Amino acid sequence: MKVYVSFWLPEAPLNALREKHAVEVNEIDRLPTPDELIAHLTDADAFLCVGSRVDAAVLDKVGDRLKIIANWGVGYNNIDAEHAAKKGIMVTNTPDVLTETTADMAWALLMAVARRIVEADTYVRAGHFQGFKPFAMLGADVWGKTIGIVGFGRIGQAVGRRALGFGMNVLYYDAVRLAPETESALSATYFDLEPLLKESDFVSVHVPLIEETRHLINAARLSLMKSSAFLVNTARGPVVDELALLEALRDKRIAGAALDVFEKEPEVTPGLIDLPNVVLAPHIGSGTWETRTNMAHLAAKNILAALAGDTPPNLVNKPVSR
Ligand code: NAP
Repeated sequence: MKVYVSFWLPEAPLNALREKHAVEVNEIDRLPTPDELIAHLTDADAFLCVGSRVDAAVLDKVGDRLKIIANWGVGYNNIDAEHAAKKGIMVTNTPDVLTETTADMAWALLMAVARRIVEADTYVRAGHFQGFKPFAMLGADVWGKTIGIVGFGRIGQAVGRRALGFGMNVLYYDAVRLAPETESALSATYFDLEPLLKESDFVSVHVPLIEETRHLINAARLSLMKSSAFLVNTARGPVVDELALLEALRDKRIAGAALDVFEKEPEVTPGLIDLPNVVLAPHIGSGTWETRTNMAHLAAKNILAALAGDTPPNLVNKPVSR
């Protein structure tokens, strides 16, 4: 059977697919356009989707053979999974394998913005470091502060566990409150979103992008944060109203932000780049060689199961039978 892969991936997971199937990999150093994607999917049985957007319009034009779209990523907001289900196409994702790596990245960003690492690096490289100054380039303490985690699932909880090592007070908000024994095992306290925003010195966002979470962090909610607080977003760009964030930062209503994801990726809202108290990264939350390879292995595993007629381990929709 034919498997189409929309961006280069390491050989090992591709070879696992090649043992049983014909694998066609996009050789161009960019994502295929929607028309190119449709052309490649006309005779495909499986699609290993690396960053491509698969909306209803694309799904309506792919061939009838397509059985599975295996997303390379845990967030699958790039795929209309419901529409795929109506067409009998399975959609899978890659949870767990990227949890700890993404939590590390949230922490890297949090520390970078709190301790002004990017500014400091630029300062030294520009030759401005002419001698120690006791009150120059001061940052904010992280240890002992309060972190508010918005979305306390796999990655949110991994961020919370790290916070305990910094002696922090961990607050969380989630659609569903955890059982008391889980809360106590994680030393985390449930807060509604608004009180959490008011209390926290650092807010780290880890909800999926769905209709309910689009602009979850909007102007009104940003205005609740302390003027000394920092926002970290490694979830998805549209969860934060980027224009409202820019205004909050410009007006010094919050102290800083660190963003791995953007509302209209790869665009960054003009103005954010000019602000020194903003740390920017190009969507590299899960970006280590090991983790991104493991994501590819898991996506391949989902495809192998689906093409063997089994239910793939990470099915996220309920496809109609056809
Ligand atoms: P997860 O385990 O599903 O955690 C997400 C949590 O958010 C769940 O507890 C979920 O509750 C909760 N939630 C859903 N809707 C909510 C709402 N309206 N209000 C409050 N909480 C809500 O997912 P994860 O593995 O931690 O991943 C989280 C997200 O991180 C992914 O969806 C992805 O977009 C993003 N991510 C980004 C990168 C990167 O490279 N920057 C890497 C990996 C992941 P329920 O379970 O009850 O729905």
